[in-house]
Amino acid sequence: EARKDREWTGRPTRTKDGKRLEIAANIASPQDLEQVLANGADGIGLFRSEFLYMEGTTPPSEEVQYQAYRKVLEGMGDRPVVVRTMDIGGDKEVACLGMEREENPFLGCRAVRYCLKNPEVFKVQLRALLRASCHGNLKILVPMVASAEEVRQVKTVLSEVEAALQEEGIPFRKGIPLGIMIEVPAAALCSDILAREVDFFSIGTNDLVQYTLAADRMNPKVSHLYSHYHPSVLRLVGTAIRNGHQAGITVGMCGAAAEDPGLLGVLAGMGLDEFSISPTRIPGTRRRLSEIHTRKAADQVERILEQDTAEAVLEVLGKERA
Ligand code: PEP
Ligand code: MG
Repeated sequence: EARKDREWTGRPTRTKDGKRLEIAANIASPQDLEQVLANGADGIGLFRSEFLYMEGTTPPSEEVQYQAYRKVLEGMGDRPVVVRTMDIGGDKEVACLGMEREENPFLGCRAVRYCLKNPEVFKVQLRALLRASCHGNLKILVPMVASAEEVRQVKTVLSEVEAALQEEGIPFRKGIPLGIMIEVPAAALCSDILAREVDFFSIGTNDLVQYTLAADRMNPKVSHLYSHYHPSVLRLVGTAIRNGHQAGITVGMCGAAAEDPGLLGVLAGMGLDEFSISPTRIPGTRRRLSEIHTRKAADQVERILEQDTAEAVLEVLGKERA
């Protein structure tokens, strides 16, 4: 099996009916690059930049961040590199930023909320990203977005950073694609509105499941309720893909659902453009996707979304392989 998968390293990903898909990698640090290249990723679909903030006792400087982003961008050549702006808060406590303890951190000042509250911290990261943009094919991804207002505020901060760099004569690439995570139900439900504001979506099922089903992703007592097979989650995923495509933007997925062999047919059938997964899962996922007929898979989607429980969805998926 492993040997069969290895034959798929570095090949373009095509479904049985010839649709081209992107298989990208999720990484947490520039050290992961070796694995990414060894497994032939089409790009980096998610660089979890918050890990840079979890290492030391002080926040990483602009220079330290610039070097980290540059290294990944150069390593990937012209292939796209999606860097997610810091997703701190929630389960990721960051000591060096002196964040206050919260009663419900997953519903608190997390990710984009923290960044908009602390623009001086956010701007350091954006400056580093913009400077690094000269060295490859950078895209910026914003986590935890729940409303169009947040996207507009991010764009305002970003244009302030661009203006400052311009003023200082520091080079950066103009028009870097800006995307948002679809990981809060509000964002999926209003994805038609949000799609007008951004260049791409990346669906984060790890959080989308927890927020949709109100089941803490870290709490074993409710882990039986936490499932990306739940029809409510799959309906939101379908909504986001449809709305993204209607607005002409690409839709990827970087949550764990994107590497679940059981869901590849449903996701390909819904029209997902990019699967961003653990580097080592790339060859196997590429092989499995090559066996899927997207138009046949699409016929199955409607029936899946009509099931009443996650278990029922699993049963249908088990019986009918697209
Ligand atoms: C997600 O929520 O699905 C995701 C990819 O982000 P993280 O797991 O880092 O929250
Ligand atoms: Mg998330």
